[in-house]
Amino acid sequence: MSTTVLGYPRIGSNRELKFASESYWKGDIHAAELDAVAAKLRRDTVEGLRGAGIDLVPSNTFSYYDHVLDTAVMVDAVPERFAQFAPGEGDREAELRRYFAMARGADGVAPLEMTKWFDTNYHYLVPELSPATRLRLAGAKPLAEYTQAKGLGVETRPVLLGPLSFLLLAKRAADAPEGWRTIELLDDLLGVYAELLASLAGAGAEWVQIDEPVLATDAGRDERAALERVYARLGGLTERPKILVSCYFGGIGHESLEVLKGAPVEGVGLDLVSGPEQVADLARVSGLGDKTLVAGVVDGRNVWRTDIPGALSTLGSLLGLAGEVVVSTSCSLLHVPIDLDAETGLDPVLRSRLAFAKQKVAEVALLGTALDDPDAAAAGLAEARTASAEGTPKAFLDQRVRARLDALGADPSRTDYDARVPAQEAASKLPLLPTTTIGSFPQTAEVRKARADFRNGRIDRAAYEGQMRAEIDRVIALQEDIGLDLLVHGEPERNDMVQYFAEQLQGYATTQFGWVQSYGSRYVRPPILFGDVARPEPMTVDWITYAQSRTAKPVKGMLTGPVTMLAWSFVRDDQPLGDTARQVALALRDEIADLEKAGIRHIQVDEAALRELLPLRAADHTGYLDWAIGSFRLATSGVADSTQIHSHMCYSEFGLIVGAIDELDADVTSVEAARSHMELVDDLATIGYRRGIGPGVYDIHSPRVPSAEEVESGLRAALRAVDPKRLWVNPDCGLKTRGYAEVEPSLRAMVAAAKKVREDL
Ligand code: GLN
Ligand code: ZN
Repeated sequence: MSTTVLGYPRIGSNRELKFASESYWKGDIHAAELDAVAAKLRRDTVEGLRGAGIDLVPSNTFSYYDHVLDTAVMVDAVPERFAQFAPGEGDREAELRRYFAMARGADGVAPLEMTKWFDTNYHYLVPELSPATRLRLAGAKPLAEYTQAKGLGVETRPVLLGPLSFLLLAKRAADAPEGWRTIELLDDLLGVYAELLASLAGAGAEWVQIDEPVLATDAGRDERAALERVYARLGGLTERPKILVSCYFGGIGHESLEVLKGAPVEGVGLDLVSGPEQVADLARVSGLGDKTLVAGVVDGRNVWRTDIPGALSTLGSLLGLAGEVVVSTSCSLLHVPIDLDAETGLDPVLRSRLAFAKQKVAEVALLGTALDDPDAAAAGLAEARTASAEGTPKAFLDQRVRARLDALGADPSRTDYDARVPAQEAASKLPLLPTTTIGSFPQTAEVRKARADFRNGRIDRAAYEGQMRAEIDRVIALQEDIGLDLLVHGEPERNDMVQYFAEQLQGYATTQFGWVQSYGSRYVRPPILFGDVARPEPMTVDWITYAQSRTAKPVKGMLTGPVTMLAWSFVRDDQPLGDTARQVALALRDEIADLEKAGIRHIQVDEAALRELLPLRAADHTGYLDWAIGSFRLATSGVADSTQIHSHMCYSEFGLIVGAIDELDADVTSVEAARSHMELVDDLATIGYRRGIGPGVYDIHSPRVPSAEEVESGLRAALRAVDPKRLWVNPDCGLKTRGYAEVEPSLRAMVAAAKKVREDL
């Protein structure tokens, strides 16, 4: 049985790509040097995969920034505003300049929009298409990467983003007529792909992998006719490599499977980890005939070791359902850290349960060998069997947490909102249209340095705490001077809103080198939630009470909510996500109780990722929202009526979860709205939302300082839909990525606008 993976991390074991591209952007190195780093990374990847025993090695899995952007550039879907960057023939510096301008913006030209890649934490650049877009084959990246690998003696399978996925992931350009759909470019695009496939075949490529992850979404499933057209056309070409259509991030449904079965292509890849029901679907369509089935049985998105006996039995059950079965990862390994061997600081029991990209490749190879020649795989199999049989180690479980959750019951809730309002008004004298911020203040070079110095042992705890307190003093004094009403401590002690808590919670581990690409050169190190979660001691109380001791104005406590704690971590898969969320919620409930005991009357629980974790298919939304809302309520319902619970969410398209925001039962919710023209406020009014709402009055994602007049007109617009007693005034997200030069005048404008509007109430 042969083996493959659908893709591999591109960033390098030592983040080589980040350092090289950032040097290039700064002008410290030339294109030739950046290209050399890239070539070395690609070489390491194909040789590494080959060396690990992978039979069918993919290529064109590398990207300087993003593979969707690569595709847009390759098919010449370059918006008009980048025309000034058009590279001359063979001018590599100019080529890269335009590419990075599309990714990051340049000279006052806005970059492509960035958005989440399905339900992962990777972000792609959104192609802009219109009827005027003239698609043509304008690049040869897949061919170049194939040829490079071939030169190294490795025959590879170039990976392409599928035409259907490309078009459905793209957006209508601003100048395209209303009602026009990107899918209308399908025939043009297929012409480009035909030319590309011919060139790959000409170079000797035996297989090509065409990714259609969009088939895991409702939008993709609805395009069955287009799907059929795409693969009838590409499959019908005479000059082409064998085609593998690979699908991941969920099941594609038996109807799409039927279409692919009937298409003139040679292989179909299915994600059997996130779409395990597809084993039954395959039987339902009576198998794939003589096509090759690439069976994704090793999870490409999580960090747990594969249950090898389970995977073997899945593979065994597939044998009669296809001409050939190839063992594979469920999706590209882009979403996991590279090498577990680098993590020397992890607890050995936890470590023995983990697999990063390299280890997952070894699992794929082991599965392949085990099916061909069980004797050759005997040692690996024996070890894997023992590991799988062990189940969750006892040491990871905490019966106390479980008992406490059982005792709390399903849905603890607060007194009705209307009854809480008078208690909160009596407890804190805030003006109408209270002004506040979302939590973080600029993370200055000094703040970062103090944290790094403490982490590396260059300063002791007392010195570190002294510096953090001095920073809190500064932030409090500034807020008083600006005239804000509800203050924050500024979060200087937090490297990241999830990692900060993960480091303090039982059941969570953090890695040293577990970098995963979030977008471009921004990589994150998601913590690993491996066991029952509990809070050994208070996590924020000292900082918040210190800040409160420095001012007579109220200070808001600041926590990260259960959904967000899960969304930005690798989470155990031995129990439902909802059960894990409840454990995190219980720890937060304890923290909130301690904050309240210490006299804090306003506590914000950020759920930045509530929308983000929403499942790809509408059929799964209710199940998700039930536990997401339930865990927030569990965390926040232990407080007195007089304690005001805030929440914050940072995205603009709320349509799908507007009702959920209400059901969270927070007293005040601040949201990103500066860029969505207060649409949300209208949506909320439509559902009869009556709690506090702080639609962000300016966009912190841009360095632009708003004028008091524009903030004022935003507030007046909001007042058309919101009761003046419920309207809050705040920026649309935390300020940590901004500098004081913008933050101070922006907040002053905001406060001035609030005062002005108050006069008329
Ligand atoms: N309290 C966090 C901050 O202000 C919230 C960040 C976020 O929503 N992403 O930084
Ligand atoms: Zn935010």
